[in-house]
Amino acid sequence: MSAPVLDVRNLSVSYLIGKQRAQAAADISFTLSAGERLGIVGESGSGKSTLALALMRLHKPPARIDAGEAWLGGTDMMRLEGEDLRRFRWSEISLVPQGAMNSLNPVMRIRRQLADAIEAHRRDWTRAQVQARVQEMLERVGLSPKVGDLYPHELSGGMKQRVCIALAVVLEPKLIIADEPTSALDVVVQRLVIQTLKDVQEQIGAALIMIGHDMGLMAQSVDRLAVMYAGRMVDIAPVRDFFHRPLHPYSQLLISSLPSPDETKPLTDIPGMQPSLFDLPGGCSFHPRCPLAKEPCRQTEPTFLPTGPGRGTACHVVRESLDEPH
Ligand code: SF4
Repeated sequence: MSAPVLDVRNLSVSYLIGKQRAQAAADISFTLSAGERLGIVGESGSGKSTLALALMRLHKPPARIDAGEAWLGGTDMMRLEGEDLRRFRWSEISLVPQGAMNSLNPVMRIRRQLADAIEAHRRDWTRAQVQARVQEMLERVGLSPKVGDLYPHELSGGMKQRVCIALAVVLEPKLIIADEPTSALDVVVQRLVIQTLKDVQEQIGAALIMIGHDMGLMAQSVDRLAVMYAGRMVDIAPVRDFFHRPLHPYSQLLISSLPSPDETKPLTDIPGMQPSLFDLPGGCSFHPRCPLAKEPCRQTEPTFLPTGPGRGTACHVVRESLDEPH
């Protein structure tokens, strides 16, 4: 396997609300190869968007990065400050945000917005070079060059999200983070937008982290899938292994709660609710909902450990079964 382009080590982010501090992302570690697509799923409040914003260094108080490193091509992004951070962001790591409308400037034509993004980072480019790149990017995301002359309110939701994709890849970053990129779109448009994202990501050879909750869409879109629960990454696996041989009990329940047209078995509900980050149960945070919970699960938090090539799981019972002689 090639050397990872992204290496996240023990990243922890917390929120201070009143006098209470909640660990929104705790001790997260994973790597990503160039061109690889990683999906991150989890219920709302599981920490997946917190992780995305922290990697971009776009988190705002009361969120705080407490510890950890995130190396992208030899630079620890957690140590960058000021102008270095500004220059690194967008040219090396970029974001396709959740709400396209909120991230586009409503009073600026699309062409100008793309040109601004290029000119802020490529100061030596001529006007002709900038305009040529704007044209190329619109075409790459499947939009007519005429779209450049329009304002955001003149575009459909899917077109706006394509503009956001063009903005994210215009400087050919090493890593793209897409935070629920299709959440406000209908199903057909969702698939077209995801296909566009995958196409441009492949063309520039970037790694992609896709945050979402639609497991079906993820299954078709990513190489590996990670699951977050109550601020912890509890499972990660190549997507085929994840669906055919899920290890973590929460992943097993997520999969059995998916409808399938070929099976008539009743859908399984995941009992209970994700706990508040301010009031996590002791031991494994999933134990009150876990059908396999044993006594150690109530006492000790499981460590996230490798379980195979590209795989890792935080679960006492999985650990035990893998340690047993076969
Ligand atoms: Fe369930 Fe225990 Fe594994 Fe947690 S550690 S997921 S409670 S079996």
